[in-house]
Amino acid sequence: MATKAQAEPSVGTEKHGHSPRTWVRRVENGGQITEYCPTYCTDHHTNDQDECLSHLFHGFHFERPEVAVFDAKDGTALAPILQGRIQIAPYDQNPRLHMPHLVFEPFQDEVMECVDPDDFADIISKIRTHCDRLDEIHSQLVQIRTEWLEAQA
Ligand SMILES: [Zn+2]
Repeated sequence: MATKAQAEPSVGTEKHGHSPRTWVRRVENGGQITEYCPTYCTDHHTNDQDECLSHLFHGFHFERPEVAVFDAKDGTALAPILQGRIQIAPYDQNPRLHMPHLVFEPFQDEVMECVDPDDFADIISKIRTHCDRLDEIHSQLVQIRTEWLEAQA
């Protein structure tokens, strides 16, 4: 049986490129498994001590812009757009989720009404800036997936 110290992942930094983390985890049949956390993962895994392996994800969220979403009745609220995360779900039933992939949330179910030209220019600027970041995320996804495929060989 794993001790408490063995069952908790070591605390890494929130930046990418940490040393690989491992921790011992109990599984349903009473056995245990050593989990490996890839270097790009910023998840804490403090809640990943249960016995259901399929609930485990590794990954990181990338920055997102926020735009003011408003309507005449309810007023204005900031809403994130073009957000997402590179992740891996090593035990999911869908084998496509075993390899690094992108979870992309372009917009929450919101409507932007009464956008004036200045507002629209601001939105365009934020999206244009963010597209440069998305290009970087794309390159990072290609690299992470390539490394994952090489590790499987
Ligand atoms: Zn992880």
